[in-house]
Amino acid sequence: MPELPEVEIVKQSLDRKIKLKKIQKVIIKNRNLRLKIPLNFGKFLKNKIIKKVTRFSKYIILQFTNESFCIVHLGMSGTIHLARKNKKNKFTNTSFYNSPNLPKKHNHVEIYFDRFKVIYNDPRRFGFFKLIKNKKELYNRFSHLGPEPFSRSFNLNYVYSYFKNKKKNIKRFLLDQNFVSGIGNIYASEILFFSKVVPSKKVKELSKNECKKIIYFSIKVLKKAIKKGGSSIRDFKNISGVDGSFQNEFKVYQRENLNCLKYKCQGKIKKKIISNRSTFFCDICQK
Ligand SMILES: [Zn+2]
Repeated sequence: MPELPEVEIVKQSLDRKIKLKKIQKVIIKNRNLRLKIPLNFGKFLKNKIIKKVTRFSKYIILQFTNESFCIVHLGMSGTIHLARKNKKNKFTNTSFYNSPNLPKKHNHVEIYFDRFKVIYNDPRRFGFFKLIKNKKELYNRFSHLGPEPFSRSFNLNYVYSYFKNKKKNIKRFLLDQNFVSGIGNIYASEILFFSKVVPSKKVKELSKNECKKIIYFSIKVLKKAIKKGGSSIRDFKNISGVDGSFQNEFKVYQRENLNCLKYKCQGKIKKKIISNRSTFFCDICQK
């Protein structure tokens, strides 16, 4: 599943390729995504010029020059490919997860520009497109979501007071999009390892110092993953043919029974299911 760093790479690739370009036409092959693609979708997009491509949490936002928007969410398995007209390009994927080349099946939406087209592929169809008329509507669409780790509002005061008297565990809160947006399952385990906090710890028991570390490493882990081209479990290449190499650097994720990588720690990495998600940690150095 694409997490924030993967989505950020898609955003960066798209912004580079489609900024200030005009949409010529849209072809929809299957409307039945998580949200059904509305009948006016093609008409809404036609002749729109992309002002820029931005992102909030795991949502990609196409911003048009008339200040309307189209939100794209990749769901569980969505990828965005960029294919040049009359040219076979080897790598089409705008990120490095899933197939580097355009798959034959499950290409649901094609957005045509002058010299290329952007293709939305999604085998499981949990992704969606959402048309947004103006800034106010965009703001409302995201108002229920907590700040991103990179935001100034994700600070000690916010985190520490949010956790007051709350009995649920910290792993659960890191995945709770109302508390913080964009930290997925893989990165939650990594962040808690660096913060030396055991994932099952109740948040009301976290010290200020532990909260500080969680904030610090949330930013650090995600930034590093973006820099590395995000994480991917399999071996993929993005559109410029660069590997996403962050998966080689996981300290705990999918390292069950392997030695803890903390200097001088004798622990072995444990796996536990917390809120239905696999959680990896060292029970010696994470308290
Ligand atoms: Zn350890």
